[in-house]
Amino acid sequence: MLGNTASLIRDNLRLVHQRITAACVRSSRSASEVRLLLATKTVPAERIRLALEAGENLIGENKVQELKKKDQVLAGQTVERHFIGHLQSNKIAEVLKYATCIQSVDRLSVAEALQHRMARDGRSLDIMVQVNTSFEDSKFGRHPSDAVAFVEALRQYPLLRIRGLMTIGLFDADPEKVRPSFRLLRQLREQIIEKSLLSPVEFSELSMGMSGDLETAIEEGATIVRVGTAVFGRRQYPDSYYWNEQTPGT
Ligand SMILES: *Cc1c(COP(=O)(O)O)cnc(C)c1O
Repeated sequence: MLGNTASLIRDNLRLVHQRITAACVRSSRSASEVRLLLATKTVPAERIRLALEAGENLIGENKVQELKKKDQVLAGQTVERHFIGHLQSNKIAEVLKYATCIQSVDRLSVAEALQHRMARDGRSLDIMVQVNTSFEDSKFGRHPSDAVAFVEALRQYPLLRIRGLMTIGLFDADPEKVRPSFRLLRQLREQIIEKSLLSPVEFSELSMGMSGDLETAIEEGATIVRVGTAVFGRRQYPDSYYWNEQTPGT
């Protein structure tokens, strides 16, 4: 059974990498500019391990409990773990045991708590700012009109290295409808650099694009695409369980 699963995951990964490469070629970018992050919510650790053994090295989790639960099985693997879900202040200590980058920072209270932890531990942390580029109330992230000011405010926390911006974008099966979300994220990064708030070298990442729209995201400048379904198959829970604060059980 696991043998079948392994070859299925390998085949899926090959297809995803082909899609990434083709999109890079079309937009005159080097494939080395785009990293594949495996979005592994609900995916059992054994299946994640198969993807790592196939050569992947970057995963993103949405829930602290899942990071913790899968940690044992993934121990000994070379893997970088990012947090891409909604971060509650009371979960910060736990998340920092496992994740080296928090992509979903969208509140000053969370940033302040992260800074506090880093000061205590004598280290620094990579973060990204999540922007709500689809303007939907149900989505987390900073409103685009406020994203630049938010980044400026984050500079008061010197132990947080702001590596870039992250967005989920409009949820639509038609990638062309999602394109304005991705374009907006790129423009926000450009504005932040133009205002000399951050250096383009440090502030280099645009984390955007998922299974259905990664090509569009790459065309608009994505440096990290976050892919779940196209590698691991369909999930058992609706995404609203992870994306919407109002859902019971979160
Ligand atoms: C689930 C998830 C993804 C991946 O979505 P797919 O459509 O399965 O590729 C990307 N980013 C975030 C924040 C997610 O929660």
